[in-house]
Order: sequence, then C-alpha cells, then structure tokens
Amino acid sequence: MTKIILTGDRPTGRLHLGHYVGSLKRRVELQNSGDFDKVYIMIADAQALTDNADNPEKVRQNIIEVALDYLSCGIDPAKSTIFIQSQIPELCELSFYYMNLVTVSRLQRNPTVKTEIKMRNFEANIPVGFFTYPISQAADITAFNATTVPAGEDQEPMIEQAREIVRRFNNTYGDTLVEPEILLPDNAACLRLPGTDGKAKMSKSLGNCIYLSDTAEEVSKRVKTMFTDPDHLRVSDPGKVEGNTVFTYLDAFCHAEHFGKYLPEYPNLDELKAHYRRGGLGDVKVKKFLDAILQEELAPIRNRRKEYEQDIPAIYDMLKRGSEAAREVAASTLARVRHSMRIDYFTDTQLIAEQAQSYKSQL
Ligand code: ATP
Ligand code: MG
Repeated sequence: MTKIILTGDRPTGRLHLGHYVGSLKRRVELQNSGDFDKVYIMIADAQALTDNADNPEKVRQNIIEVALDYLSCGIDPAKSTIFIQSQIPELCELSFYYMNLVTVSRLQRNPTVKTEIKMRNFEANIPVGFFTYPISQAADITAFNATTVPAGEDQEPMIEQAREIVRRFNNTYGDTLVEPEILLPDNAACLRLPGTDGKAKMSKSLGNCIYLSDTAEEVSKRVKTMFTDPDHLRVSDPGKVEGNTVFTYLDAFCHAEHFGKYLPEYPNLDELKAHYRRGGLGDVKVKKFLDAILQEELAPIRNRRKEYEQDIPAIYDMLKRGSEAAREVAASTLARVRHSMRIDYFTDTQLIAEQAQSYKSQL
C-alpha cells in the first residue's frame, strides 16, 4: 500500500520545543526511514489567517521562519515536498465541497476548536473561517492522499473530523478519498508538551515557549525560571514530580547517556525522581541538568539555521518548487473529486451525448 505523510505548521511564529517533540523530530525520522512513498510538509498560512485576518504581515514574515526551522531540524527538500498552503487554490475548492458533509453542531463539539476559541477570547465573534478550519484541514490531508499525519495530541479531533468527511464522501459519491490516520508521539510527555509556565501546552500564541532558534543564554534563562513544584520551598522538602514542568521536559528529552555525561551520581531518571520525591534534591540542580540536555539538542539546530540564513532567496526558490509540485497533486485529486461528484460536465461526453439523444427523440 502507498504510504504518504502530510503534516504542517501555522506560520504564526518560530517553531518551539512543543513542535519539535510533538511532530517535527518524528517527521525527520520518518522522512529518512524510507518507509514512505511521499512526504508533504505544509506551511499553513491560509489557516493562520483564520485567526490573524487583521495581521497578514505576521503570517507573511513567519513563513521564512518556519521554513528555516524545518531545514535546520533536518527536513530535506530532496526527500520532502515543502509547500505554502495558500499557493494551492485547489484546497479551497475541496473545502467548499466538504462543507456540505459536516454539520454546524459537529464543528461546535470539536474539543480543540472549543479550547482555541476560549484561548483567543473570540466568544460570540468567531470568524466563520476559523470555525470551519477543521474542514479545510481535511482538504489539506485528502488532497495529497495522505495515509499518515504525524502530529501532537491536540490534532486528534481534527484527524477524526477528516476521517468522517472521507467516509461520508466515499459513501455518497463512491470510493474517491483516502482515510488518514494520526501518528502520535510514542512518548507520553511529548503528546502535549506544557509551556515553561506549566500551564497550557507550549504554544506560540501564549508566549510560554522555548524556541528552536533561541540563543543558548535565552534557553538557560527560560529553564531557570521554569515552573516546578510550588510547595518545594527548601532543598530538604519532599517534592512533586507530577505536573512539575522540569520533570516533564526530562521525560521528553532525557536519555540514559545524559546521566553519564552530566549527572553521573544518578544511574537514571527514576532514581533522580525518587530523590526529588524524598526531599534533599534542589530545583537548581535538576534545572542545570535539563539545561545541559537542551543545549546539546539545540546547538546543532541553531548552528545549521545560521547557515541557511545566509541564502534566503534559495529558500523561497525551494518553497516555490515545492508549491508547484504540490499543486499538481492537489489538482489531480480535485479532478477525481469533481468526477465523483458529477460536476465534470464538459469532460463528461456521456452526459452530453445522452441528453442530446433524449432531446432528439422528443422531436
Ligand atoms: P498556534 O498557537 O498559532 O496555534 P501552535 O504553537 O499551537 O501555534 P501549530 O502550528 O498549531 O502550533 O501546531 C503545529 C504542530 O505542532 C501540530 O502537529 C501540533 O500538534 C504540534 N504541537 C504544537 N504545540 C505542541 C505541544 N506543546 N506539544 C506537542 N505538540 C505540539
Ligand atoms: Mg495550534
């Protein structure tokens, strides 16, 4: 069976550790695994405009930031097609037809949309485009016949919505679209990495991020001020590991070899947690450990970014080529969709011949 990946990010800011562990790192592994026939990575500018309509400049400026982050993490344009959503008008047409297959109440029940509406204080003033973005996401996924969508947990309701649209479409118009599956991170801490404030998920819109492009000093500062256990006041106090952001990040980033390198007095993370729970282990020491691990992971990404920053026009060329290639695929899906929906009048010679015949016989 053909295996195709489609995934992407909104150009609303630089990419952060949440993107990295939730999707980006996995994409690079999948891209290099050779298990997939095609990998499409979309910069979702049209979706970003659904809640940034009055700030198109923000979206415009962040396209290059997201592209730079992709390349510095190891997304390789020779293996993956990177493209810009708005440059594929076929996606709008697909969304328009899919809208007939989804009810308003179904969209209202989508838990991610509900949370995001609250987060953005939209209340009664929800832009229609924002409200319907799960439908446009279904268009993005199905246009590329994607079987697999590597994403964080917040995307689960979106993929479920896309699957429903596919089933409804295929039942109504005949087998046409491919049903996608979400590929969640296998490490629980990476499903929804919290922000450095320990509150909601790390999110560009909330300003609680460590960005992949942050300097070494910025990363250290973020780690130093990171939320821990508010009741762990003295080193000797017993501490809580659950809901303690520093430990959640260790769950996400720490490997056995980090202990030998940076904290040889502990054999593994379980022992470190046990000591923290007992009391006698200070936040500063754990934070220093996390800082060393993050610096090791982020330094090569930051350095590669510096190189790519030297030739911005080449990146736009790459995005243009990717968008052209992606458009061809979306156009061929749209042709299939139009055919199944029987709105391909001018190419349907049978329709024209039959109607001509029927009118002739009435004469
Ligand atoms: P915005 O605030 O503009 O929505 P965002 O930070 O939520 O931005 P998106 O572009 O919406 O980022 O998400 C892109 C991808 O990254 C999705 O697959 C999403 O699941 C994943 N992702 C985003 N934040 C996290 C996180 N904190 N933990 C795990 N995965 C995440
Ligand atoms: Mg988001």
